[in-house]
Amino acid sequence: MNEIVLDLKDYKDVWVFTEIKDHVRVEECALEILGKAREVANQLNEKLVAIVMALEAEQYLPVIEEHGVDRIIYMSHPDLKHYHERIFTDLVFDLVEKFKPSVFLFPSTEAGNALAARVAYRCQTGLVSDVLDFELSEEFGLNLRNTEAFKPAYGGNIHVKIDCPNSRPQMCTVTRGTFKKKILKKKKIDHQKIEYSYDKSKIKIKIVGTPTRKDKPSSRLSDAKFVIGGGHGLSSKENFNKLFELARLTNGQVGGTRRPILDDWMPEHLQIGISGETITPSLYIAFGISGAIQHVVGINDSQTIISINKDPNATIFDSSDYCVIADANEILEGLLEHYKV
Ligand SMILES: Cc1cc2nc3c(=O)[nH]c(=O)nc-3n(C[C@H](O)[C@H](O)[C@H](O)COP(=O)(O)OP(=O)(O)OC[C@H]3O[C@@H](n4cnc5c(N)ncnc54)[C@H](O)[C@@H]3O)c2cc1C
Repeated sequence: MNEIVLDLKDYKDVWVFTEIKDHVRVEECALEILGKAREVANQLNEKLVAIVMALEAEQYLPVIEEHGVDRIIYMSHPDLKHYHERIFTDLVFDLVEKFKPSVFLFPSTEAGNALAARVAYRCQTGLVSDVLDFELSEEFGLNLRNTEAFKPAYGGNIHVKIDCPNSRPQMCTVTRGTFKKKILKKKKIDHQKIEYSYDKSKIKIKIVGTPTRKDKPSSRLSDAKFVIGGGHGLSSKENFNKLFELARLTNGQVGGTRRPILDDWMPEHLQIGISGETITPSLYIAFGISGAIQHVVGINDSQTIISINKDPNATIFDSSDYCVIADANEILEGLLEHYKV
């Protein structure tokens, strides 16, 4: 493919793909991104724009307006009720071509990741996944409109700065819990409705049904107030199963590290961390978890963390409010006995 040379001056404004989750609510992660994107827009002296595509999109606009946006560009149509790879990619790419944003941020969700990758490819620009922060680039002299994204690399042992000097938009995905929501309502918010028009005859794939995952719980781990986490330190499936018993007795929810999934002790959707859920409970109790960065990024926003590990130097203790140096299975047995009576 030929290299596209852009006139960067044509590109302005910070966009956030404000995903509508399960066609009932605005994705929390998108609202969190708006808080940070507001700061980036202020630094660039550009506008913050939310992009909304949904069935009856108007109903979500009041929530989005509370998060510092200058403008909302939205489309509303029954075809947009569920995320559709082809339709969303075509429509969002058309918007980018028309309005030319300088920065475009996406929540790191199934739809957000898929859409960001496809749009970035179409725009022939870079995409940084799961960024931790942004700052204006100093190195580009007059080109102060450049933003640098920070991303953990090599298992979180180093943080790299990545910039996108020659192409636009500068695109990133952001994991839930990375930024905090900020309530801020601008006096003047511009609404721009784009009439939906799409020639579906060009879609070669016919969707015959939307699969539902039977193993998915009705309540989401990311919304749980009490989460009980298990790791490889529990040493067997039988021991791990006791976490589910404790959760039943205490009205909690079980999650865990990647290891119990690999060991087939726990289904995949219960993974907490960089490639799983981000949780924000009042209380998180970690049983036999080492504290690898890939897990810890998903628990950092818990109000209180209690960790049980037999190794006094376990990394998880660095992120914990209470550290229990003990055998996790013994503590688990004790709690079960306590709650059973
Ligand atoms: C690209 C990538 C993405 C990843 N994404 C994720 C992710 O999203 N989430 C995630 O969790 N991981 C993820 N991982 C894996 C991650 O790096 C770690 O390997 C994993 O979190 C370790 O799981 P663990 O703490 O359960 O197991 P281990 O590292 O084996 O640690 C077990 C801990 O239990 C303790 N222990 C042992 N016996 C006992 C006992 N009887 N009582 C108390 N403590 C005991 C040990 O001291 C140790 O600290 C990812 C890895 C990669 C490369």
